[in-house]
Amino acid sequence: MAATLSRTLRPLSRAVSSGLSSSKRVIPARTLQYTPRAFSTTTRRRDVELTDLTPTPISHLTETEALMAETVYKFAQEQVGPKVREMDEAEAMDPAVIEQLFEQGLMGIEIPEEYGGSGMNFTSAIIAIEELARVDPSVSVMVDVHNTLVNSAVMKYGDAEAQRKWLPKLASGTLGSFCLSEPASGSDSFALQTKAEKTANGYKINGSKMWITNSMEAGFFIVFANLDPSKGYKGITAFIVEKDTPGFSIAKKEKKLGIRASSTCTLSFDDVEIPKSNLLGEEGKGYKIAIGILNEGRIGIAAQMTGLALGAWENAAGYAWNDRKQFGQLIGTFQGMQHQLAQAYTEIAAARALVYNAARKKEVGQDYVVDAAMAKLYASQVAGRVAGSAVEWMGGMGFVREGIAEKMFRDSKIGAIYEGTSNIQLQTIAKKLQTQYTR
Ligand SMILES: Cc1cc2nc3c(=O)[nH]c(=O)nc-3n(C[C@H](O)[C@H](O)[C@H](O)COP(=O)(O)OP(=O)(O)OC[C@H]3O[C@@H](n4cnc5c(N)ncnc54)[C@H](O)[C@@H]3O)c2cc1C
Repeated sequence: MAATLSRTLRPLSRAVSSGLSSSKRVIPARTLQYTPRAFSTTTRRRDVELTDLTPTPISHLTETEALMAETVYKFAQEQVGPKVREMDEAEAMDPAVIEQLFEQGLMGIEIPEEYGGSGMNFTSAIIAIEELARVDPSVSVMVDVHNTLVNSAVMKYGDAEAQRKWLPKLASGTLGSFCLSEPASGSDSFALQTKAEKTANGYKINGSKMWITNSMEAGFFIVFANLDPSKGYKGITAFIVEKDTPGFSIAKKEKKLGIRASSTCTLSFDDVEIPKSNLLGEEGKGYKIAIGILNEGRIGIAAQMTGLALGAWENAAGYAWNDRKQFGQLIGTFQGMQHQLAQAYTEIAAARALVYNAARKKEVGQDYVVDAAMAKLYASQVAGRVAGSAVEWMGGMGFVREGIAEKMFRDSKIGAIYEGTSNIQLQTIAKKLQTQYTR
């Protein structure tokens, strides 16, 4: 399949025309099969009357999307795979990986081609995030935050001038961060304390942000601050801050349980002055931007968790069915093992169906908020279960820091925490159901 696809590569995007070598796969070819899908094109299809379309299986992809999956899979295997353990131990992202991701067009997947992006659809971004997570969830979340939070916010809420100025940079070499959480405001994110005030030329920001992904390597920060605390959450406003702005600094880098190559820092804003043009969207509309963007972003985290679960499963299944013998036979041939492997794979397929369904609903303009919450909730549960079982399936070999099993297990925990904890996803789902079912 890989050879056929590499022969049919077209210059649809830099991501799929990257000319990566088609050397032998390290792990088996994609096993959850994709085939072309009717209404998933790279253009917006909000005008489409969905009832007129013939339904297709949710796992079907367009040719472009399937090429994206194959290309990113190979890139992750060949370029990221050999560095995964080293980056985890060093708790740092290799700068060469970031550079390659920009070169491959994976940091501007949805950014229009006129701004130097790949001009692809949201599902393509979701596929890239999933494929990267299959090999390294740290690299995956870096790409996820940059594409589904930062680029999306500029594309959706930036005016023409902001888009002309920032999108080419975000597509070509400037990594982005999304700064909402603070020491005192996590799940209750709109209780944020960071303040902004107007100046003669623009705005001045004071406060701090905590848990900010990509912040060590980023040059572009979307920062939420309250411009008028008397209005409560309706004072929250989104601003753009560049790394070298005086008064901005990284106060602390966290040492974490998992996704250790992904940087997570506390940021300080001490009289950070920015021009008027660095306002993102409208004053007082930051809460709407945060809600809207995080709803999309959750589908990305769900994709990260699905990819992680598949990567952990493939690693352990490969070991059980090829390498490890006990009692004179491969451990994967014991029925007790087979049933567990089958159960886990079924759950991964179910998580993926939820993820793609949410992504497709977003693409066609349907309400996807509950779908995104269900996808993130379930995919993170599946990732935790599968990555945990995978350690056990490999026995002692799953527990040591030679392979990826123990790393995937540690990495899986974050899925239930960031971009809304599992309780917050349950709250979103339950609220909607209650409205629907209350007589
Ligand atoms: C590695 C990492 C990367 C991150 N990256 C970013 C980033 O890039 N940008 C950013 O802005 N933030 C980021 N975050 C922050 C993340 O979104 C928050 O950690 C998350 O929203 C939870 O907030 P908290 O940690 O303050 O937990 P808390 O809000 O204190 O929650 C603690 C517990 O209380 C529960 N809880 C809270 N409220 C309720 C409720 N109403 N009902 C039921 N249970 C409740 C939670 O479910 C959780 O179990 C990151 C966090 C981590 C750990």
